Amino acid sequence: MNAKDKTAYCGIYCPDCIHLHNQYSTLSQELLTHLKKIEFDKYASIESPFGAEFTHWDKFSTVLHKLASTQCENPCRPGGGCSGTACKIMMCCQEKEFEGCWECNDVEQCDKFDFLEPRCGQMPKNNILKIKTHGIENWADKRANFYIWQK
Ligand code: SF4
Ligand code: SF4
Repeated sequence: MNAKDKTAYCGIYCPDCIHLHNQYSTLSQELLTHLKKIEFDKYASIESPFGAEFTHWDKFSTVLHKLASTQCENPCRPGGGCSGTACKIMMCCQEKEFEGCWECNDVEQCDKFDFLEPRCGQMPKNNILKIKTHGIENWADKRANFYIWQK
């Protein structure tokens, strides 16, 4: 897979995303299978000498099922967007027949990146500047951290 296929229209580098080919979904599925086999839900429904935490079983189970089902199998470009659904940035690029926002002159003032900002901050726009400077095949080793909590 070349660098362009690993780079989403918005400038994010999909191999850095925690969902791509993740381990947590596989491990969560294994845990779900094991817990089902030993019928832990029935154990958790009765007061336990091990503590009251098991009363939160339903919430825990909901999150565990979500973890088991959120593995991403393909980067954005070949996969048609996150979960196979095009976001507003991808649709905008495709309407303009751009390979990515790095072909656009309106990046700085574009407000379509708002949904990425809580987790990724300015990373996508910073990456786009790197792509504009170095080209799509030679920018990846200059990319910013994916998540705002990464140092
Ligand atoms: S397509 Fe979306 S979910 Fe999949 S790796 Fe890229 S950013 Fe992550
Ligand atoms: S307006 Fe430009 S920067 Fe904004 S999403 Fe569309 S192509 Fe990307």
